[in-house]
Amino acid sequence: MFHAQILTLFPEFFNSPLSCSIPKRAIEASLARVDCIQIRDFSTDKHRTVDDKPYGGGPGMLMKPEPVVAAIRQARKRDPQTHVVMLTPSGIRFGQSKALEYVEKAHITLLCGRYEGFDERICDEVDEQLSLGDYVLSGGEPAALSVLDAVIRLLPGVLGSADSAVLDSFTEEGILDWPHYTRPEVFEGKRVPSVLLSGNHEKIEAWRREQAIIRSKLWCKNHQ
Ligand code: SAM
Repeated sequence: MFHAQILTLFPEFFNSPLSCSIPKRAIEASLARVDCIQIRDFSTDKHRTVDDKPYGGGPGMLMKPEPVVAAIRQARKRDPQTHVVMLTPSGIRFGQSKALEYVEKAHITLLCGRYEGFDERICDEVDEQLSLGDYVLSGGEPAALSVLDAVIRLLPGVLGSADSAVLDSFTEEGILDWPHYTRPEVFEGKRVPSVLLSGNHEKIEAWRREQAIIRSKLWCKNHQ
């Protein structure tokens, strides 16, 4: 079974997203297990402090090393196979290939930051630093949730149709999905491409491939 541990100051953030749709089904079917660990529980002072001012001055607070490192060590103790991932804008960029890698690993721990981020010494305790993209979120939780969702839907047996994940964007040869249409045949004057109504499966497949390549080329151009 795929096992994710989430180290966070806001475990409640995950309640609703994990209790609907695909993640819910995966958890109910025992294909995935997600445990949230409250970092604050590893603080040792009476105020349960997890943050402090940065040395050298500057705005905001940082996550202190003691409770975060203790939480990471606890996650490793609970699951010795776990691969610990720190969510941070300066990490390597998350993508579909990384999601597939985590499916293979099957044991991951996602460390969510808050405030201005982590004391740098915490980095020595993690296996990898991961970014969702070149923008700054207010916390690691939305990033962890995106990673989790992308991984869970790839787990064998999670999606209804065996093909749906294989045909997703970025999966087959790294190209994007083709355009999809459903009923009605005409919506506000816009027609479904006639080839899709032709019943000719060879032509349909060729059209889809051509459209996927056109989209992918455009995507590459927009991402240069
Ligand atoms: N001061 C940090 C910086 O400029 O890189 C930003 C800290 S951010 C407000 C707080 C936390 O949100 C980070 O420690 C990290 O866990 C998470 N976070 C923010 N943006 C992220 C991103 N693009 N990818 C992954 N995690 C992110």
